[in-house]
Amino acid sequence: MSEDTFKAYVPLPKNTRAFICANCGGVSLHAEGICKVMGMGTKADWCGSPSLNPPQQCRNRVHTLRFKCKKCGKVSVNPELLCEPVEMEKPKE
Ligand SMILES: [Zn+2]
Ligand SMILES: [Zn+2]
Repeated sequence: MSEDTFKAYVPLPKNTRAFICANCGGVSLHAEGICKVMGMGTKADWCGSPSLNPPQQCRNRVHTLRFKCKKCGKVSVNPELLCEPVEMEKPKE
């Protein structure tokens, strides 16, 4: 039952800016990837510090493939925004 870290990606630098979702806390490089843009942050804002909220799927964009970080629990549309991304299970239809 080991989760393999998603490997096919190149991590982005910690000063990379990304959009943050107000509904689920997910992050994305593109505003279209999340349901409600709250603002922007940099990768350094979330990666490295464990998230207080459990990872969750975006409510309005449930069919978008998402990744969660094994270290901080952050959810992202782009694995490049996480330090140890693993693929999240697709929600059941
Ligand atoms: Zn992380
Ligand atoms: Zn969302």
